[in-house]
Amino acid sequence: MQSNTFCMSPFVRMTQWWNGNLNTCTHYNEMTGDGSYSEKQVFIPKDKYNSLLDAFNGKEMNDLRSKMINGDFLDGCRYCYHLESLGLMSLRQSINSCHTFESKAKLKEIEIYPSNKCNFRCTICNPSASSMWEKAPLQSKDEKPTKTYLLDDLDDLDLITISGGEPMIMEDYSGDFFKNRSAKLFTMATNNSVFPKKEFFNFVNRCDDILIYLSLDGVGEVGEFCRKGLKMTRFNKNLKKWQNWFDDSKFKRNGNPNYKLRPPFLTGLRIMFVMQIYNVFNVYDSMKWADEHDIILDLRNCYSPEKLNIAYLPDEIKEDIMNGPFYNDTHKEFTYKILNSDNYDKKRVEEFIEYTKYLMVLDEIPKESLKIFKKCMDII
Ligand code: SF4
Repeated sequence: MQSNTFCMSPFVRMTQWWNGNLNTCTHYNEMTGDGSYSEKQVFIPKDKYNSLLDAFNGKEMNDLRSKMINGDFLDGCRYCYHLESLGLMSLRQSINSCHTFESKAKLKEIEIYPSNKCNFRCTICNPSASSMWEKAPLQSKDEKPTKTYLLDDLDDLDLITISGGEPMIMEDYSGDFFKNRSAKLFTMATNNSVFPKKEFFNFVNRCDDILIYLSLDGVGEVGEFCRKGLKMTRFNKNLKKWQNWFDDSKFKRNGNPNYKLRPPFLTGLRIMFVMQIYNVFNVYDSMKWADEHDIILDLRNCYSPEKLNIAYLPDEIKEDIMNGPFYNDTHKEFTYKILNSDNYDKKRVEEFIEYTKYLMVLDEIPKESLKIFKKCMDII
């Protein structure tokens, strides 16, 4: 079953967020994409079900599956539709390429964010996802999950993804976690401030393949500002440890070209770079750094929070960005696509200005990260 809207996610996948709310995937209700300003909606409230499997068989997921079969255009799926409209691979396309439709749904993929425990306070993050953000002035505390993992009655899985917060400082992943379990593919995103203890690899080694994303939103002082808590020297040291570990393991450091679960074959050790207003002029240096450190860097755009998305900037600032320099064609094409993906939005830019003023009170912001803020102040 293929169409421009159909997605296999509700037939195979569940996600648990930091506050215990459940969803089919991490992007459902991620963005409205239609210029409205509604926040990410709760799909299945925490504690309604006792396990991911219960929730998967529950009313909300059954309704979502029916809508998929009917070919409905789903407001909650706008994030995927948006990426596809830019010619970028969406989670929908990725999941669809791994599963064929069967009328009986079977839970095969899970993504778990057990808590917001984190040692970083990144510019793109918020108190729901980071305990460090919770401690910042004027921030509110989100609810905490009372149940995590909820893996009861699940068979072996195709995909297990863990994320945070920062997974490597969570009790949940100390020792031999997910005992007696394995997965065809294990994926994880980490801020790379802590290299895992050796027990962590017990589970990892039981999996068929892995994707380890090290998050880095800039190098030098821009990177250390965008991901408050990052220390480049420590990041470089831990990167070396990961590279050595991969080279001694059964896994391929630069990805396994034969791996079919997640086209386009995203496995191995990679850098996840989220482009935002504060680091758009640092992409060049970051890509150069990645080449020099023999690691693949994947560019992503910031959609949450939308106020840091470069697509809403005034045209003259977009022109400055378009004038480069660009490290390579991938960098250039990606930036052009994102800049042209939406129009100047004064309200979003005002939100960006207010947010930057708030961050100025907390941190010293490097000049490079303030370039666009200063231009916006002149224009607006
Ligand atoms: S289309 Fe995207 S947002 Fe919608 S369910 Fe599928 S993966 Fe999730």
